[in-house]
Amino acid sequence: MPDIRPTVGSSALVLNATYEPLCVVSVRRATILVLTSKAECVSDGDGILHSAHHTLPVPSVVRLTRYVKVPYRTHVGLSRRAIFARDGGRCAYCRGSAETIDHVFPRSRGGLHAWENVVAACAKCNHSKGDKTPAELGWRLHAAPAAPRGVAWRVLGHRTPDPRWADWLDLPKPVGAEAA
Ligand SMILES: [Zn+2]
Repeated sequence: MPDIRPTVGSSALVLNATYEPLCVVSVRRATILVLTSKAECVSDGDGILHSAHHTLPVPSVVRLTRYVKVPYRTHVGLSRRAIFARDGGRCAYCRGSAETIDHVFPRSRGGLHAWENVVAACAKCNHSKGDKTPAELGWRLHAAPAAPRGVAWRVLGHRTPDPRWADWLDLPKPVGAEAA
């Protein structure tokens, strides 16, 4: 195994032989795939990798030389990071900066801890909402919460995508673009 010490701690997108996005790996792992001819570099990242015997650009997107069959993971795990990523870090009620997770139908009243019942919320809204429902307060949700879907979520999860991957992933608009 070559001794690869990437100068940047970034990650690389792996495409199947069919160019379908598969997963995200470390730059080190992507480099090893390229050096062992298991993948080819599709898009270069920033910088050059140096090892005893090799000098090559840091890979940003690599494509496997042989097709691999992967079982689809359709379920996105419910985590604080994933909820914040889905909601763009905004409060579901006032669209301010979110710091907490709120159960739309309160857990104390039997509300489920599920994608359809959790939203990112600011501390102020979460506190004043207490154990009431939005309807009881006359509040409106910006959007009905739902489990995230799509290739970008399957591949990225809560990771922040490298802009160079946009050609390969159906990326949602960056936060801030909608404000204009
Ligand atoms: Zn709020």
